[in-house]
Amino acid sequence: MKNIKEYNLDELQEELVNLGEKKYRAEQIFKWLYVDKVKEFDEMTNLSIELREKLKKEYTICNFKILKKQESSDGTKKYLFDVLDGNAIESVLMEYHHGKTICVSSQIGCKMGCKFCASTGIKFIRSLTCGEIVEQILAVEQDIGDKISNIVFMGIGEPFDNYENVMKAIKIINNQKGLNIGARHISISTSGLVPMIYKFADEELQCTLSISLHATNDEKRSNMMPINNKYNIKELMEACKYYISKTNKRISFEYALAKDNNDNLEDAKELVKLLKGMLCHVNLIPINKIENGKYTKSTNENIIKFRDYLNNNGIVATIRRELGSDIDAACGQLRRKNLKE
Ligand code: SAH
Repeated sequence: MKNIKEYNLDELQEELVNLGEKKYRAEQIFKWLYVDKVKEFDEMTNLSIELREKLKKEYTICNFKILKKQESSDGTKKYLFDVLDGNAIESVLMEYHHGKTICVSSQIGCKMGCKFCASTGIKFIRSLTCGEIVEQILAVEQDIGDKISNIVFMGIGEPFDNYENVMKAIKIINNQKGLNIGARHISISTSGLVPMIYKFADEELQCTLSISLHATNDEKRSNMMPINNKYNIKELMEACKYYISKTNKRISFEYALAKDNNDNLEDAKELVKLLKGMLCHVNLIPINKIENGKYTKSTNENIIKFRDYLNNNGIVATIRRELGSDIDAACGQLRRKNLKE
């Protein structure tokens, strides 16, 4: 059976017409799903019973089950969702002064192999469908009874390794008749899949692009992130410059600081050289320790020194707040689960 949340509004209209129904029914269903957030076709009371029965025969409404919910001392919530095929993924809800942000997963596992990230330690299973990406937002909104204002594609997986589904999910998220969250409130983070950065630039979306840089020379970056062997820093920077020229948007470079690895003044100097003159911002992340991980967090003193050096040398840098680390909900700490293990 098909999941009704896999369709954007245009496609849903087509589906309804194919079922011999009027086009406007799609808009009604879309509203029930994304505005009223109902979980059953029978709750769609402005559809005839006959149509509801027809829909039940053709489609399911994918409703994730919350297997576990943990709350951090800072208010961050981590959800473990049953994606209904024997696998489970995590999503995180964070509270900022400007509203509620959800960090969504794009894949069950990750192929990138970054040495400091827990999402990658276990086998990759598959990419999430567009409906499964959107469902994370719906399930959290249903749980808290409130609207989410910002979305970051920074959970499990590499969003640009699941490009089409992520783009389609963004369309549903953006749709004013759907979740109605503007592109400016969506961030996508990539480990640096260069061809997809070009493709994304050409979409000319207003989303924020974050690039996981983490090191300033190829030797160091390849040690931390195997993807650098495929697309090196030079190629990555060229793609970033293309993105900026095409969209006129600022890129956010993520740089996770690991003690005695990439956190000394020499690294900061190299980073300034690399990014000088670019329309960008650096987001410094105190690296979160993961199980069996070889990297440890920089000292607060080094983190501040690093940030100040960047700021004093023309690169705007901020330190990312460490939310949810006590429940393993912080950057790099999410992982998929197999429900049968
Ligand atoms: N696959 C995407 C999204 C991943 S998560 C990407 O690589 O960009 C979002 C950010 O958290 C990335 O910048 C990622 O490199 C970073 N991250 C991963 N593990 C981390 C850890 N242990 N500590 C701090 N940041 C980490």
